[in-house]
Amino acid sequence: MVQCDLLIVGCGPAGMMAAIYAKRANKKIIILDKGNPGGRVLSTYKVDNYLGFSRVSAEELVSKMINHLHDLEIEDTYGDVLDIHLNDGIYRVQTDIDTYHSRAVIIASGTEPRPMGVKDEKQYLSRGLSYCAVCDGIFFEQKDVTIVGGGDSALEECLYLAEIAKSVTIVHDLPNLTAAGGLINRVKQNPKISIIASTQVTGLLGEPCINAISVKDLVTGKSRNIPTEGVFVYVGNLPRTEFLKNLDVLDQEGFIAVNSEMQTKSPGLFACGDVTKKDYRLIATAISDGAIAALSAVKYLDK
Ligand SMILES: Cc1cc2nc3c(=O)[nH]c(=O)nc-3n(C[C@H](O)[C@H](O)[C@H](O)COP(=O)(O)OP(=O)(O)OC[C@H]3O[C@@H](n4cnc5c(N)ncnc54)[C@H](O)[C@@H]3O)c2cc1C
Repeated sequence: MVQCDLLIVGCGPAGMMAAIYAKRANKKIIILDKGNPGGRVLSTYKVDNYLGFSRVSAEELVSKMINHLHDLEIEDTYGDVLDIHLNDGIYRVQTDIDTYHSRAVIIASGTEPRPMGVKDEKQYLSRGLSYCAVCDGIFFEQKDVTIVGGGDSALEECLYLAEIAKSVTIVHDLPNLTAAGGLINRVKQNPKISIIASTQVTGLLGEPCINAISVKDLVTGKSRNIPTEGVFVYVGNLPRTEFLKNLDVLDQEGFIAVNSEMQTKSPGLFACGDVTKKDYRLIATAISDGAIAALSAVKYLDK
């Protein structure tokens, strides 16, 4: 069993920012992550909307963040958080390898990609289906690929894939793309990219790997198949909060409800970043939340 003042779950931008503020307030902190530090920033290629960097590779931005932690002698610890209980004012945090006791906890566990919900989706993972263009795009060099979704992430990753693939087709179920205007312009100007609107993906085809998708036109109701070798899905995100089921702090969709101080309704439990109920999920908003969560947690600990 390990004890600390403040335990932070998740070493993405929100958790890292929280760790920096808490460490500077001289608290004994532990920051846990079940993966590599950096969080979902690492699933994109370039970031061009983070203050101070006009256009920076995600890898470089994350490495600067991690260096900042190391400068303050903060090391992230491996641990997959499975369960959190509150007993007599102490949070007992169970990971796959250890138990931690802490007076305060900040949850910064972010989100994971939402599946499309079509038959056999899981079985096609690594057989043509992916939720991360930066991780898997290289396997589709000079191939015809499809992006499902029409928001910012879909279009950013579409531009990345267009540098590798032979062609990229965007399939989305609304009449218009919902991404930022500048992104839409760049996509529309790229001769390798085509857009199919008001269309839903209804199935994945091919054995053993994807060679086509079936789609339904939501205006005409007609179905057809589109040949493709890769399908990259960007249709939203789900919160990573299964380990909080013992604490009554989640909204109906599983996101964490917090007040303006990033406090949940469980005393000493704070949350920040994409895992919270909010409108805009960005690096900038995640680090802002992280700073507020840490300052609030320090105030709570000092009471
Ligand atoms: C494809 C894509 C492109 C994007 N592009 C941009 C962009 O250009 N600009 C921008 O501002 N934002 C962008 N974003 C959004 C940005 O990445 C997020 O807003 C930001 O990463 C949120 O930070 P976070 O710390 O809240 O969560 P995350 O970055 O998701 O980090 C959460 C961390 O918690 C860890 N974790 C989860 N569950 C557990 C557990 N049970 N135990 C231990 N650890 C756990 C995860 O491993 C992860 O490291 C993009 C996102 C995606 C998916």
